[in-house]
Amino acid sequence: MSDTVKFVLPEERIPRSWYNLLADLPSPPPPVLHPGTMQPIGPGDLAPLFPMSLILQEVSTEREIEIPEPVRDVYRQWRPSPLFRARRLEKALDTPARIYYKYEGVSPAGSHKPNTAVAQAFYNKEAGITRITTETGAGQWGSSLAFAGALFGISIDVYMVRVSYDQKPYRRALMEAYGARCVPSPSMETNSGRAILAKRHDHPGSLGIAISEAVEMAAQRDDTKYALGSVLNHVLLHQTVIGQEAMAQFEMANDYPDVILGCTGGGSNFAGIAFPFIGAQLRGGRKHKIVAVEPSACPSLTRGPYAYDFGDTAKLTPLTKMNTLGSSFTPPGFHAGGLRYHGMAPLVSFVKELGLIDAVAYHQNACFAAGVEFARAEGIVPAPEANHAVKGAIDEALKCKQEGVSRAILFNLSGHGHFDMQAYIDYHAGKLLDQDYDEAELAMALAGLPSVPA
Ligand SMILES: *Cc1c(COP(=O)(O)O)cnc(C)c1O
Repeated sequence: MSDTVKFVLPEERIPRSWYNLLADLPSPPPPVLHPGTMQPIGPGDLAPLFPMSLILQEVSTEREIEIPEPVRDVYRQWRPSPLFRARRLEKALDTPARIYYKYEGVSPAGSHKPNTAVAQAFYNKEAGITRITTETGAGQWGSSLAFAGALFGISIDVYMVRVSYDQKPYRRALMEAYGARCVPSPSMETNSGRAILAKRHDHPGSLGIAISEAVEMAAQRDDTKYALGSVLNHVLLHQTVIGQEAMAQFEMANDYPDVILGCTGGGSNFAGIAFPFIGAQLRGGRKHKIVAVEPSACPSLTRGPYAYDFGDTAKLTPLTKMNTLGSSFTPPGFHAGGLRYHGMAPLVSFVKELGLIDAVAYHQNACFAAGVEFARAEGIVPAPEANHAVKGAIDEALKCKQEGVSRAILFNLSGHGHFDMQAYIDYHAGKLLDQDYDEAELAMALAGLPSVPA
């Protein structure tokens, strides 16, 4: 067998619908609550922030939701994305495992995020919206929405977490190249930003704070809505093109994944690859071991309780039940900026509660070591976030070696690291710290969880 093994689907195999896991779950997840009344919210409560078409997707229980043709047409630029068999990595590891990766770095922004950015921009355009505000961590989401905004003629305002704004000037340059405005967060433009800066003028920012700023700006204007790059049901839904394509590619490969892994920040690329397989399993198909891989410095799934919490720091968002480290938790400034969120997608948290997935956490040096090993075997330099999935997959492959069994391992390579080379420079210079979160800060943040009547 050749060492370059690539499974490419023809254009017409781009999925025609997104897959909605809610249709196949044995019970519905806990309701989303209004932050004032603590009662379940209705679609109208979200209307100031999102167009109704996306709100209806957020609460839909239909199994298949049709992908509009203009969205499929943009997808055509890079989808179906390739599935590779990592033969060279298998050899380097001397493992009997069959390692596959679905590569989402082929999109214009270099990650899976345009899968939902394009859909969200389309529905906002349809609703007559002219401006979208959003937050970004490492800049992957901001640049993806900036790309989509440019295609659909929508102005994009991005509140970028301060530490990443300083660490990653090239992502900002990319957003600006696409025509977006990029503001370091916390900023002086919003009440929530000003309140944070009054307490700490050099605050490094967090996704929770940047979300507060973007939500505040969107809620003030009729022509402006807000977009979130992860966490919400409709975002996870849009990412399911990944897993659906992977299923078709595994058919081409005449194989079936025993283990499926993805890194988890807010949970969207993980859900994208895993949910279609979980759905098939729930409908009576074969069982998989499914693993979410997260950073030890921000371990929401492995260390956070499953509890109602706010999605942002200023407590403007509805309450959702999720694995959370507390909405006031500020994770340390490690390099996988896309994984620095205090909570986990409610739907990913719920499937973990149901025992359908496992979660593991790794320190960043081990993840970069895995990423470098992967790059030397396969040629692709992964994004620091994706290195977590690589590390998880390599560990699974080494288990196969120990046990002398061959399992098929599939992981989502969520993006390339071309804009993150400073992180690789720091890694090679031995400058990356393996931080754990601050126990005292975590305890404080968890003590501040909202109390919700049963
Ligand atoms: C944003 C990002 C992540 C984390 O977000 P999820 O919603 O958990 O997928 C992971 N990988 C890359 C490349 C990203 O840009």
